[in-house]
Amino acid sequence: MNCKLAHKKLIFFVEQELPVSEMEQVRQHLKQCAPCAHFAEEMKKTLSIIEADKVEDENPFFFTRVKARLENTAGKQVAARPVLVRILQPVAFSVILLLGVYGGFKLGQTPTINAGNNAEAQELIPYWNELDAEPIETFLME
Ligand SMILES: [Zn+2]
Repeated sequence: MNCKLAHKKLIFFVEQELPVSEMEQVRQHLKQCAPCAHFAEEMKKTLSIIEADKVEDENPFFFTRVKARLENTAGKQVAARPVLVRILQPVAFSVILLLGVYGGFKLGQTPTINAGNNAEAQELIPYWNELDAEPIETFLME
Protein backbone atom coordinates (compact mmCIF):
# COMPACT_ATOMS: atom_id res chain seq x y z
CA MET A 1 0.00 0.00 0.00
CA ASN A 2 1.33 3.44 -0.85
CA CYS A 3 0.94 6.63 1.18
CA LYS A 4 -1.81 8.08 -0.98
CA LEU A 5 -4.00 5.03 -0.58
CA ALA A 6 -3.15 4.79 3.10
CA HIS A 7 -4.22 8.42 3.64
CA LYS A 8 -7.46 7.74 1.85
CA LYS A 9 -8.21 4.78 4.09
CA LEU A 10 -6.87 6.32 7.23
CA ILE A 11 -10.07 7.88 8.48
CA PHE A 12 -11.86 4.57 8.12
CA PHE A 13 -8.90 2.83 9.70
CA VAL A 14 -9.07 5.14 12.71
CA GLU A 15 -12.81 4.60 12.91
CA GLN A 16 -12.17 0.87 12.48
CA GLU A 17 -14.62 0.67 9.63
CA LEU A 18 -12.38 -1.11 7.12
CA PRO A 19 -12.59 -4.77 6.25
CA VAL A 20 -10.16 -6.80 8.33
CA SER A 21 -7.76 -7.33 5.43
CA GLU A 22 -7.57 -3.60 4.69
CA MET A 23 -7.19 -2.77 8.36
CA GLU A 24 -4.17 -5.04 8.35
CA GLN A 25 -2.76 -3.43 5.19
CA VAL A 26 -3.04 0.04 6.65
CA ARG A 27 -1.58 -1.17 9.94
CA GLN A 28 1.38 -2.62 8.08
CA HIS A 29 1.92 0.61 6.19
CA LEU A 30 1.80 2.67 9.38
CA LYS A 31 4.45 0.43 10.89
CA GLN A 32 6.80 1.18 8.01
CA CYS A 33 5.89 4.80 7.33
CA ALA A 34 6.53 7.37 10.06
CA PRO A 35 4.74 10.33 8.37
CA CYS A 36 1.59 8.27 7.88
CA ALA A 37 1.79 6.92 11.41
CA HIS A 38 2.10 10.46 12.70
CA PHE A 39 -0.81 11.55 10.54
CA ALA A 40 -2.88 8.67 11.89
CA GLU A 41 -2.08 9.72 15.45
CA GLU A 42 -3.16 13.29 14.74
CA MET A 43 -6.35 12.03 13.19
CA LYS A 44 -7.05 9.83 16.20
CA LYS A 45 -6.53 12.80 18.51
CA THR A 46 -8.84 15.00 16.44
CA LEU A 47 -11.49 12.33 16.30
CA SER A 48 -11.27 11.68 20.02
CA ILE A 49 -11.81 15.40 20.63
CA ILE A 50 -14.86 15.31 18.40
CA GLU A 51 -16.09 12.19 20.18
CA ALA A 52 -15.58 13.86 23.55
CA ASP A 53 -17.61 16.81 22.32
CA LYS A 54 -20.40 14.51 21.23
CA VAL A 55 -20.44 12.83 24.62
CA GLU A 56 -20.58 16.19 26.32
CA ASP A 57 -23.51 17.24 24.18
CA GLU A 58 -25.43 14.17 25.21
CA ASN A 59 -24.60 14.73 28.82
CA PRO A 60 -27.74 16.08 30.53
CA PHE A 61 -25.55 18.18 32.80
CA PHE A 62 -23.73 19.78 29.91
CA PHE A 63 -26.02 22.79 29.73
CA THR A 64 -26.06 23.13 33.47
CA ARG A 65 -22.30 23.26 33.48
CA VAL A 66 -22.17 25.71 30.60
CA LYS A 67 -24.73 27.86 32.34
CA ALA A 68 -22.75 27.75 35.55
CA ARG A 69 -19.63 28.71 33.64
CA LEU A 70 -21.45 31.58 31.92
CA GLU A 71 -22.82 32.77 35.22
CA ASN A 72 -19.36 32.63 36.70
CA THR A 73 -18.03 34.81 33.92
CA ALA A 74 -21.04 37.10 34.12
CA GLY A 75 -20.64 37.28 37.88
CA LYS A 76 -17.09 38.50 37.50
CA GLN A 77 -18.17 41.15 35.02
CA VAL A 78 -21.09 42.24 37.17
CA ALA A 79 -18.92 42.51 40.23
CA ALA A 80 -16.90 45.21 38.51
CA ARG A 81 -20.01 47.34 38.01
CA PRO A 82 -21.49 49.62 40.63
CA VAL A 83 -24.15 48.12 42.90
CA LEU A 84 -26.81 50.54 41.70
CA VAL A 85 -26.44 49.40 38.09
CA ARG A 86 -26.62 45.80 39.22
CA ILE A 87 -29.95 46.47 40.92
CA LEU A 88 -31.38 48.82 38.34
CA GLN A 89 -30.61 46.72 35.30
CA PRO A 90 -33.10 43.91 36.08
CA VAL A 91 -35.63 46.54 37.12
CA ALA A 92 -35.17 48.34 33.83
CA PHE A 93 -35.64 45.06 31.97
CA SER A 94 -38.84 44.37 33.90
CA VAL A 95 -40.17 47.84 33.18
CA ILE A 96 -39.42 47.46 29.49
CA LEU A 97 -41.11 44.06 29.51
CA LEU A 98 -44.18 45.40 31.31
CA LEU A 99 -44.37 48.34 28.94
CA GLY A 100 -44.25 45.91 26.05
CA VAL A 101 -47.05 43.81 27.52
CA TYR A 102 -49.10 46.87 28.36
CA GLY A 103 -48.56 48.25 24.86
CA GLY A 104 -49.63 44.91 23.43
CA PHE A 105 -52.82 44.94 25.46
CA LYS A 106 -53.58 48.51 24.53
CA LEU A 107 -52.99 47.72 20.90
CA GLY A 108 -55.38 44.75 21.15
CA GLN A 109 -58.05 46.70 23.00
CA THR A 110 -58.01 49.75 20.75
CA PRO A 111 -61.26 49.60 18.83
CA THR A 112 -60.57 49.18 15.16
CA ILE A 113 -62.05 52.24 13.62
CA ASN A 114 -61.43 50.99 10.13
CA ALA A 115 -62.80 47.50 10.85
CA GLY A 116 -64.62 47.65 7.55
CA ASN A 117 -61.34 47.99 5.73
CA ASN A 118 -59.08 45.12 6.72
CA ALA A 119 -56.47 45.71 4.09
CA GLU A 120 -55.96 49.24 5.28
CA ALA A 121 -55.82 48.11 8.92
CA GLN A 122 -53.09 45.60 8.19
CA GLU A 123 -51.17 48.18 6.29
CA LEU A 124 -51.31 50.52 9.27
CA ILE A 125 -50.23 48.06 11.96
CA PRO A 126 -46.51 48.07 11.13
CA TYR A 127 -46.45 51.82 11.64
CA TRP A 128 -48.18 51.71 15.01
CA ASN A 129 -44.91 51.26 16.80
CA GLU A 130 -43.62 54.49 15.38
CA LEU A 131 -46.68 56.63 15.88
CA ASP A 132 -48.84 57.31 18.92
CA ALA A 133 -52.33 55.84 18.90
CA GLU A 134 -53.86 59.29 19.41
CA PRO A 135 -52.68 60.98 16.17
CA ILE A 136 -53.68 57.93 14.14
CA GLU A 137 -57.19 58.03 15.51
CA THR A 138 -57.58 61.75 14.89
CA PHE A 139 -56.01 61.26 11.50
CA LEU A 140 -58.53 58.56 10.67
CA MET A 141 -61.47 60.63 11.95
CA GLU A 142 -60.74 63.43 9.56
ZN1 LIG B 1 2.94 6.45 4.21
